[in-house]
Amino acid sequence: MRRNADELAKMRRAGRVVAEIHEATKAVIRPGVSTAAIDLAAREILERRGAGSNFLDYHGFPAVVCTSPNSMIVHGIPSEDVVLEEGDIISVDCGAIVEGYHGDAAYTMGVGEVSPEASRLMEVTEESLSAGIAELCPGNRLHDVGRAVQQVAESAGFSVVREYVGHAIGTAMHEEPQVPNYWPGTPGPTLRRGMVFAVEPMVNAGGPATVLLDDGWSVVTSDGRLSAHFEHTIAVTDDGPEVLTRL
Ligand code: MG
Ligand code: MG
Repeated sequence: MRRNADELAKMRRAGRVVAEIHEATKAVIRPGVSTAAIDLAAREILERRGAGSNFLDYHGFPAVVCTSPNSMIVHGIPSEDVVLEEGDIISVDCGAIVEGYHGDAAYTMGVGEVSPEASRLMEVTEESLSAGIAELCPGNRLHDVGRAVQQVAESAGFSVVREYVGHAIGTAMHEEPQVPNYWPGTPGPTLRRGMVFAVEPMVNAGGPATVLLDDGWSVVTSDGRLSAHFEHTIAVTDDGPEVLTRL
């Protein structure tokens, strides 16, 4: 699906709300704060901007953000009972809907001082996202993105998750086609101006295997090692990739 100028303008506005949520939630993250407080900070921005949430009630999800600490990869449910501690890392994923158009983005950050491994994992995951984004140019093939992400992550000795992937985005959060974070064996569709994708590497310090917990949402690493997640919503333009979820 290719978006016209009017649609891209709406997606820019949705992306800006998501970026504001990132700023507001980063500002509350510190030792002693619960993941429910992160959700609350995000709700305040959505309300202030008159934006809808694409996370709340998605297949019954109970919050406007996903909060996934340490070995949790994605889809963690915010809770008063999950209190952040010094040395944790926390992944926060959120989205917004403005005039029917969606934005979606995620980050991982340290809580206070973190281990060298945690710090390196976050740095490499963000780098892998940048490498993937750089491929979003007209004429490239979609799976050039996954190849670039995988190359950065694996060169650093980390692994990329296979079961959860990025996606096209527009009038729904999750549209076809999917955007794997690895080379799937075929080049995929040719990229054209106006296409918009959410690229979202999930990078594990250990192996790539995942386990779904009994709550039906939380996905963790099967080896218990750390995982990081960074995501942006990006439009393919004639001038190259335009990141929509950045202030
Ligand atoms: Mg997301
Ligand atoms: Mg996404």
